[in-house]
Amino acid sequence: HDTPLFSGLPGDIAVSFEFFPPKSETMEAKLWDAVQELKPLDPSFVSVTYGAGGSTRERTHKTVARIISEAQIPAAAHLTCVDASKADTQAIAEQYWEAGVRHIVALRGDAGEPGAAFTPHPQGYANAAELVAGLKEVADFEISVAAYPETHPDADCPQADLDNLKRKIDAGASRAITQFFFSAETFFDFREAVAAHGIDAPVVPGILPVTNVAQARKFAGQCGALIPEWMDGLFEGLDERPASRQLVAATVAAELCRRLYAGGVRDFHFYTLNRADLAYAICHMLGRRPKGIAA
Ligand code: FAD
Repeated sequence: HDTPLFSGLPGDIAVSFEFFPPKSETMEAKLWDAVQELKPLDPSFVSVTYGAGGSTRERTHKTVARIISEAQIPAAAHLTCVDASKADTQAIAEQYWEAGVRHIVALRGDAGEPGAAFTPHPQGYANAAELVAGLKEVADFEISVAAYPETHPDADCPQADLDNLKRKIDAGASRAITQFFFSAETFFDFREAVAAHGIDAPVVPGILPVTNVAQARKFAGQCGALIPEWMDGLFEGLDERPASRQLVAATVAAELCRRLYAGGVRDFHFYTLNRADLAYAICHMLGRRPKGIAA
């Protein structure tokens, strides 16, 4: 699974970028800069997350609609089952369809309190597989779902989590995007397990370039991902050196992507946190160039 250098990578990859809906005008301007900067890399799609409990419902919708109409990039809206009845959720999906959104990232979501167990709305979808089926009743959306190379914390065991992924694909999803991870072997093992489980939908690695280990670790515990200890060592002493942290983040993530590429991966989904630089640099190192320019 290894290749000696970045040099010569032809950029024969598909890329997608994930954003979160901005909370203020300043943040919206920053997001828009990032969208414009990444657009020349010709993403297959970009996606916009959905906040806990539907708290970003309006902003997610607005952001996705603007990306489609102004930037003219295919955009996917994330949608969760949290705090919504099936009828509410289907109404949101109908609005998306009417606004020209054809791709949904369908998720269960989490309880409002960090660490608390998820409790479905009494009239709502109990899990992502049910949501996928419900969305397909509304319209023929393209649907992506989440997958967990290191197993979702609520799953009884890795096999049960794979059963769940299979239910989501069987319900109509056509792609799985993974939670972030930091070892290419972890991804390869997962890809094998997925195939052995009779799941033939593509599994796209979700790449998170980490610039702040403490923050990432806080988040990772709740969502089925591990931040390896070696990463603490890499960032040691860099708290007051944001530029160096950026460089380290890009190096670590680009190296992971290079290994994934060497192992046959050609699809990459980047968690951008609404900033273009890191994702752009990593795509560039993989040989990706603005449309029309050869690597
Ligand atoms: P599900 O696939 O429903 O699975 C949740 C857990 O329940 C798993 O452990 C599964 O094995 C288990 N399970 C499900 N059904 C059954 C069953 N019938 N019997 C037994 N066990 C079952 N969260 C947000 O709030 N907004 C976002 O925009 C967002 N975007 C994300 C994007 C990606 C790519 C990823 C990987 C995650 C995202 N999340 C988002 C986080 C996600 O909502 C959480 O990880 C959540 O805890 C699980 O969602 P899921 O869709 O994977 O759930």
